[in-house]
Amino acid sequence: MHTLELRDLHVALTEQPDKSIVKGVTLTIKSGEVHAIMGPNGTGKSTLSKAVAGHPDYTITGGDVLLDGKSILEMEPDERARAGLFLAFQYPSEIPGVSIANFIRAAVQARLKEGEELDATSYYKRLYAKMDLLKIDRKFTSRAVNDGFSGGEKKRCEILQMAMLEPAFALMDETDSGLDIDALKVVAEGVNAMRSPRFGVLMITHYQRLLDYIVPDFVHVMMDGRIVKSGDKTLAMELESRGYDWIKKEFAPAKA
Ligand code: ADP
Ligand code: MG
Repeated sequence: MHTLELRDLHVALTEQPDKSIVKGVTLTIKSGEVHAIMGPNGTGKSTLSKAVAGHPDYTITGGDVLLDGKSILEMEPDERARAGLFLAFQYPSEIPGVSIANFIRAAVQARLKEGEELDATSYYKRLYAKMDLLKIDRKFTSRAVNDGFSGGEKKRCEILQMAMLEPAFALMDETDSGLDIDALKVVAEGVNAMRSPRFGVLMITHYQRLLDYIVPDFVHVMMDGRIVKSGDKTLAMELESRGYDWIKKEFAPAKA
């Protein structure tokens, strides 16, 4: 059993340390759980995920992030990954000439202890087993990473990498407004195939629609840098039918 804990997390832009974007987020995710963060545009959802990933544009100005009780804030992004976090932001947009199979192999190799060599036969055996699980065509792995990929294929590559790295937690920020229904289904099927007591997910999404495919255990609404409401999957349904205005009213400071 693993836990990922955000404790009163505050995040600012590195360039503007006085401009607070995330203003005290507290959240505990256990392995086996799927949490969704929803909310209107510009409320700090992507900033939250990038800060946890260690993106240099964002600085954590307060609070802590703990993986199994240990702070990850002093870790480089690759160390965070080795510790068991899968963070979508590490993915290169395009690597011409590097096949998916070799790219993922390098990522898996990088997680091994120094001096340990990845055995090619067992690597491919595991890769093909994961591809079968995710219903990915064998031909896919010989293509270059993201080279001329559709939205769905990019997601397939990302999900395959996630399946191979077997992280304790995945942070997924499905921001892309161009995410079509095919890509959405790839993400959902991948996450659902990987759901297990050893794997937790923090799914950030603007789309209630994604949550039709990945049924979350918990739903959190973020507004103005804070989680203002939490609930179960019925909260996502309520947001779909009622929008966000009613929550805004609940949490808006009373006008004098
Ligand atoms: P969300 O993902 O909820 O739509 P974001 O985290 O992307 O929100 O953005 C929250 C706020 O922070 C927005 O006002 C956005 O303009 C600002 N912001 C985020 N990243 C940057 C950046 N790199 N430079 C300047 N402003 C930023
Ligand atoms: Mg966003």
